[in-house]
Amino acid sequence: MPEEPIIKTENLKKWFPLRRGFFASLFGEKELYVKAVDGISFEIYPGEIFGLAGESGCGKTTTGRVILRLIEPTEGKIYYRNQDITNLSSKELKPLRKEMQIIFQDPYESLNPRMSIYDIIAEPLKVQKLTSSPKEEEELVFKALEEVELTPPEEFIFRFPHELSGGQRQRVAIARAFILKPRFIVADEPVSMLDVSIRSEILKVMLREKERYKAAILFITHDLSLARHMCNRLAIMYLGKIVEMGETESVIQKPLHPYTQALIAAVPVPDPDYKRGKIPIKGEVPSPVNLPPGCRFHPRCPQAMPICRKEEPKIQEIDGKLVACHLYR
Ligand code: SF4
Repeated sequence: MPEEPIIKTENLKKWFPLRRGFFASLFGEKELYVKAVDGISFEIYPGEIFGLAGESGCGKTTTGRVILRLIEPTEGKIYYRNQDITNLSSKELKPLRKEMQIIFQDPYESLNPRMSIYDIIAEPLKVQKLTSSPKEEEELVFKALEEVELTPPEEFIFRFPHELSGGQRQRVAIARAFILKPRFIVADEPVSMLDVSIRSEILKVMLREKERYKAAILFITHDLSLARHMCNRLAIMYLGKIVEMGETESVIQKPLHPYTQALIAAVPVPDPDYKRGKIPIKGEVPSPVNLPPGCRFHPRCPQAMPICRKEEPKIQEIDGKLVACHLYR
């Protein structure tokens, strides 16, 4: 990638302190943390779709929110177009907010139920004071509704979120996210709450908007088939760490990390005659509070070796990808 990244994270961490009981505090027991994101570094380039995939609870949603500074990082750095935004104040962040937007997973919760569709879409314009007259604002709202195919706009502007279907609500969320012509969007499982029959339509709308405004997307998903369809590059997360990252086709076709291999083996294939090696993945995901020593995947890894229980593998470049596994020492 020759260009400079639009987003860069360096050793990014988000640890949530666990609430301790009275006696635990009194007797000075050690503070415990949920290590939701635990030292991840990656870059996203202009116009690309960068996927972050993994099981639920692996830290991908927290990563998206920390990058946008919707929640504060515990450690590490976030750069937006080479500017360190890790410690910017809300006031300093405000002009950048219009360039960085989010589409949430749940269109039922992400839209204010008391606001009309017009007000929901116009709100970012008002916050950023981007229009000079009500007429200009109305034109932009109508244009945004047309772009996401909620037409004719007159039929939608006076409605409220509860009067729309799930797909229509997600179109409104997309219109709101793109009305500011952002350069970077976090799309957090944007279709997982929607009926399967309308998912591809909503994704098409999102992709068209992305192309129109030349935005880059951090695409968060638990669905590897979808990641393959959508993403240029893909990172696989496990318990707060990136375990494998590279060009999407390479990660999917030639997975190197045992966790990636297990995830891919678990993807349903529509052809009943298709045979592939089943890779067993033992047990449950360990608690992000009491992380296993060494490689945090070792209790479930079919290829674990003695070193895996003691030493955490460093991420290193193998065959053009980044992989964190002792098998490739
Ligand atoms: Fe498995 Fe060891 Fe690799 Fe971890 S480091 S994924 S336990 S082989």
